[in-house]
Amino acid sequence: MADEVFRRDGYMSEFEAGVVSARGDEVVLDCTAFYPGGGGQTCDTGTINGKRVVDVHYDGKEIVHIVPGNSLEPGMRVWCSIDWDRRYDLMMGHTGEHLLFCSLKRLDPELAITKIGIDPADKYVIVNHDVPWEDVRAALRFANQAIRENLTVSKATVSRDDSELEDVRINLERIAEDEEITVVSIGNIDRSACSGVHVAETSELGMLFVDRKVSAGKDGVAIHFRVGAAAQDAAAELAVTCLEAADEAGSKPEDVVRSVANMKRDLLLAAETSKEASRRRVAEMSPEDIGGIPVYAGMFSGANRRILSEAAERFKAAGGVAVFVNDAGSVSVMLASGTSRVDCRTILPAVLGRFGGGGGGKPDFAQGGIEDRARAGELYQALLSAVRSALS
Ligand SMILES: [Zn+2]
Repeated sequence: MADEVFRRDGYMSEFEAGVVSARGDEVVLDCTAFYPGGGGQTCDTGTINGKRVVDVHYDGKEIVHIVPGNSLEPGMRVWCSIDWDRRYDLMMGHTGEHLLFCSLKRLDPELAITKIGIDPADKYVIVNHDVPWEDVRAALRFANQAIRENLTVSKATVSRDDSELEDVRINLERIAEDEEITVVSIGNIDRSACSGVHVAETSELGMLFVDRKVSAGKDGVAIHFRVGAAAQDAAAELAVTCLEAADEAGSKPEDVVRSVANMKRDLLLAAETSKEASRRRVAEMSPEDIGGIPVYAGMFSGANRRILSEAAERFKAAGGVAVFVNDAGSVSVMLASGTSRVDCRTILPAVLGRFGGGGGGKPDFAQGGIEDRARAGELYQALLSAVRSALS
């Protein structure tokens, strides 16, 4: 088995090694500092003798480096170089994940990790249930304080039955029977079983920042975070967005959440009021008798669509005809008929076509619309007169 340097030294970025085997693109070395990925952290990339290493993974117990187009042979000595900026970002990310999760778990002991993703483009931890923003705020305060205090991040190997494991975050089911357990400690605030690569001191993270929290379906909730310069940039960017939103909402930045909640409540209330008004208006409609058929015709402004369609269905079921024109941003039209003398499918498109609009449906119910709001009244009259001539 190769000497897995990354297990004891996370900072080695260049090293010499011997080639054990080279079959096609797959290269096995006698020692390697390339992290093969694991624990949610993506693998390293780099070069071997100047040739790109595009992927590194475990194949059984062997670490395989994928080096397309290599001409390596067993026994050769090679010079290996890891893409350091990428690797260091992943180390910071992995350490950041430990720090973020332990900071959240302090506030919510029931919180558990479902999944972790540490990639140059995206870093996240998926937890089993939602976390209130208040907890995210407190956790970030705690984590960034730990970063400023520059706590040591250390590693120790323990056996499965060690009593020390009691206060370690660990999922024993995920660790093979014979595997020894590496415990990663951050100062005295967190101990977690992990075989990934981490930085040596928390100050290396510079800053930890949560920039998104979204549902992850049955897995729970994904908390996306950033570390280092990326965290600073994201924090500045989002802060300005928040200031902009506060400006737009006409509130102080610290009141923006309350302002938006109030707006949401007012909108719901307005929608409810408009629905009620539509309902009343429809209930008060009285039909005009045209050729023995009750015709319910009306022009509406911002009426609730569902209430109009329910009313149209009702008038139709009673053998009547409904002609509704509704101006709600654009002009929509509903035509319903309980008599074979009025064929909605024929009348509606013919009239709308004259106004540059379109629509369709069935003989007893059709709908459509036009863009030009200024012509709503004219359209209403045209529809009514088409119904009138069909009935007389
Ligand atoms: Zn870790």
